[in-house]
Amino acid sequence: RAKKGGGNNFYVYNKELSDIEINKVKTISQLRRAVERNEFELYYQPKIDMNLGKVHGMEALIRWNNPDEGLIGPNKFIPIAEEMGLILPIGEWVLREACRQNKEWLDKGYQPIRVSVNISGMQFQQKDFVDIVKNVLEDTGIESQYLELEITESIAMIDIKYTIEVLKKLKSLGVYISIDDFGTGYSSFSYLKEMSVDELKIDRTFIMDVNTNTKNMSIVKAIIHLAHELNLEVTAEGAETEEHIQFLKENNCDKVQGYYYSKPVSSEEFEKFLK
Ligand code: C2E
Ligand code: MG
Ligand code: MG
Ligand code: MG
Repeated sequence: RAKKGGGNNFYVYNKELSDIEINKVKTISQLRRAVERNEFELYYQPKIDMNLGKVHGMEALIRWNNPDEGLIGPNKFIPIAEEMGLILPIGEWVLREACRQNKEWLDKGYQPIRVSVNISGMQFQQKDFVDIVKNVLEDTGIESQYLELEITESIAMIDIKYTIEVLKKLKSLGVYISIDDFGTGYSSFSYLKEMSVDELKIDRTFIMDVNTNTKNMSIVKAIIHLAHELNLEVTAEGAETEEHIQFLKENNCDKVQGYYYSKPVSSEEFEKFLK
């Protein structure tokens, strides 16, 4: 922004970059460096089985250890990494690292749990995506039943035929499939039945005010019901309060993830918790 004349009128030059754009340019060059130097780290958040009251799995969530700016969350850089195509190497690293870490913990003899990995649309559309998953399983030596892939509802519904085909191949490898952020996209329920899916994961925005917002209350109940009718499991994400847990228990939600139990934590922290 430039100051005009002596008054306090401000105006924006057309060619001038906004703060957002400047930040983005900075992020773009830093991201290239981050991939080269591997500045990423996985955090893990437990997923709790509501019936057994114990840990059922964990979701791997990427963090960027930026040397200049500290720890950066995925919402700030994943969209840019997608635009740059860098999500492909980053995503493969996440998959590999999550499997390597889980295999290490399985070998140490802790209670065996599954690790969930978020897959971006671009990764899912990659021609050799199934081969990449297969290679990672082989290279890390982890059994496929200990890996779950999370694909968002909106990505799954872009090209339903393609999704059905890829999910079938992934399923034949033995990995688990979860539809993430369920309820925010536009699912075609009849196709959901044809997709080799194991779980629906209810988006956090429905859980946030589920005890006071009667619409979200109905939506959450309906998704739990739909999942069970289709023989799928259902996880609620973003449960923060006793009231959320109570509501989800009363309505037979199978699994819960949220700050109520734990925020995502570093691998060191998560291991303490496994011990
Ligand atoms: P997501 O897959 O839906 O992950 C859940 C997000 O909700 C995580 O945010 C988690 O920290 C947050 N969360 C969990 N419980 C609570 C809660 O009780 N309250 C609140 N306020 N938040 C909660 P995070 O780690 O910032 O990740 C955001 C999104 O970034 C993820 O949403 C996912 O879409 C994406 N993401 C994370 N890691 C990866 C990755 O490795 N690859 C790709 N492609 N995307 C990733
Ligand atoms: Mg997820
Ligand atoms: Mg989600
Ligand atoms: Mg979400």
